[in-house]
Amino acid sequence: MHAIMNTYGRLPVTFTHGKGCWLYDTEGRKYLDALTGIAVCGLGHAHPAVTAAIQEQAGQLVHTSNLYGIGRQQELAENLTRISGMDNVFFSNSGAEANEAAIKIARKYGHQKGISEPVIVVMTKAFHGRTMATLTATGNAKAQEGFGPLLNGFVRVPYMDDDAIRAVVRANPNIVAVMLEPVQGEGGLATAGEDYIKAVRDICDQNDLLMLVDEIQTGNGRTGSYFCYQQFGITPDVVTTAKGLGNGVPIGACLARGKAAEVLQPGSHGSTYGGNPLACAAANAVVTTIENEKLAENAAHMGNYLASAFNVRLQDNPLFSEIRGRGLMMGIVLKKDCTELMAKGTEKGLLLNVTSGNVIRLLPPLTLTEEEADLIVEGVMELIHELNE
Ligand SMILES: *Cc1c(COP(=O)(O)O)cnc(C)c1O
Repeated sequence: MHAIMNTYGRLPVTFTHGKGCWLYDTEGRKYLDALTGIAVCGLGHAHPAVTAAIQEQAGQLVHTSNLYGIGRQQELAENLTRISGMDNVFFSNSGAEANEAAIKIARKYGHQKGISEPVIVVMTKAFHGRTMATLTATGNAKAQEGFGPLLNGFVRVPYMDDDAIRAVVRANPNIVAVMLEPVQGEGGLATAGEDYIKAVRDICDQNDLLMLVDEIQTGNGRTGSYFCYQQFGITPDVVTTAKGLGNGVPIGACLARGKAAEVLQPGSHGSTYGGNPLACAAANAVVTTIENEKLAENAAHMGNYLASAFNVRLQDNPLFSEIRGRGLMMGIVLKKDCTELMAKGTEKGLLLNVTSGNVIRLLPPLTLTEEEADLIVEGVMELIHELNE
């Protein structure tokens, strides 16, 4: 792979095709996919509704420009606002770009209030992307190393500590927004509870701050509802999503509500590709399939199914600490480093990954059946037992 810039540590396997939960490699080997390209292919591989939508749209129109109306984009925006309770959407091509839009909305909101140096509260161990603004918002010193100077205008507090947010808000009149993930996908699957999310909503309401919820990974049915925040009875001012939205076709979305929905005006933000007909056709097929096939409900059910299976099977294992996450966004926390399990799993034909060194991360398709879940449990148990030895 010498022609490709060396930004990824890759495993020595190359896939040629997939179907549902299964992937097949160049050697004809079969793999159970419990990672789905990091929460991207929620409908599984080669889902017929998505394939048909891409094929049909590719034969009609792939790209025009946001200088003109785009029917598929309008349709997708109406679907997403109806589902989310948000007012409008800006479309991007990735998660980081959706978060850039959210950050720009928060900053401009501040400027409109006369705050010329707006500050956004972000969390420890957050992951918001790799562009300069989202890298600054990310709480990972290793990811930031060597890329300074980072941006001004961010202050970090411990995740799941609403008193810490109150304290910085009291101390700093320039704060304009609070940005957080409901489950920290890259940060070890730390999972916020209802009380904390509601407290953040209250702090934002009381101080005229925008609540920015990063659902790049938790959105699109992954945690058991279309968006994770819907489980807490609150609505954010801005919510971003990407990964599962296109089932592999690159697309991101920044949804806004109320005063946040009016901040960006013609000329203030944009994207050449963002929301083009091809990406929106794929995403419309994804969104309607998630709704029609009740895949968020299935994610909730299968998440509980997997969590109870692991809790039973691991309860007496000295290496086991706890299960984290929501729905089909699951972390099995071990008491020792298990980074090697990603490669070992792949060798055995089970795709998963490890975050924070000791957390096995499972992100299987939302279409998962109990039979497929049983295969994941058996595979993971085998890997953990080998770690025990
Ligand atoms: C993956 C991810 C991002 C970045 O998305 P990209 O499409 O890789 O730019 C941002 N936030 C969260 C929570 C993510 O999981």
